[in-house]
Amino acid sequence: TERTLVLIKPDAVARGYVGEILGRIERKGLTISALDLRTAPGEIAAAHYAEHEGRPFYPGLLEFITGGPLVAAVLEGPRAIAAFRQLAGGTDPVEKAVPGTIRGDFGLEAQENLVHGSDSVESAEREIALWFPHLAAN
Ligand code: ATP
Repeated sequence: TERTLVLIKPDAVARGYVGEILGRIERKGLTISALDLRTAPGEIAAAHYAEHEGRPFYPGLLEFITGGPLVAAVLEGPRAIAAFRQLAGGTDPVEKAVPGTIRGDFGLEAQENLVHGSDSVESAEREIALWFPHLAAN
């Protein structure tokens, strides 16, 4: 089994898609092992997106991600990382994500793309430790 860190971003929460997205996660067969609605502090958001520091969209991304409540979750299951990224679709909801995916069905813009999912075991463990310190793998 594998773990992944998922964010249901502030745009999705504001638009009322939390239930829809959690429903897709549950129907896929992934287990929700942690779930929390919160407004991300700037330091957490900056650490989460540290790899994008210096990119032109970075300041706007931090403003967006801290600008309203989001839902942070830990999902568990076989190949959970790839399974959630399949549900999410590609980063750009129009250019990359296809219909049938969360971003492909509900997104229009590269930034406000509804969800985040860890992209590797290493980033999943780093992100779980950041968002849910009590669940950090020692
Ligand atoms: P995530 O890590 O959130 O699942 P991702 O791995 O598909 O997304 P990254 O390339 O890591 O995509 O970008 C992280 C986030 O930064 C994206 O999900 C999106 O919200 C934002 N972003 C990425 N590219 C752009 C862009 N060109 N313009 C605006 N925002 C962007």
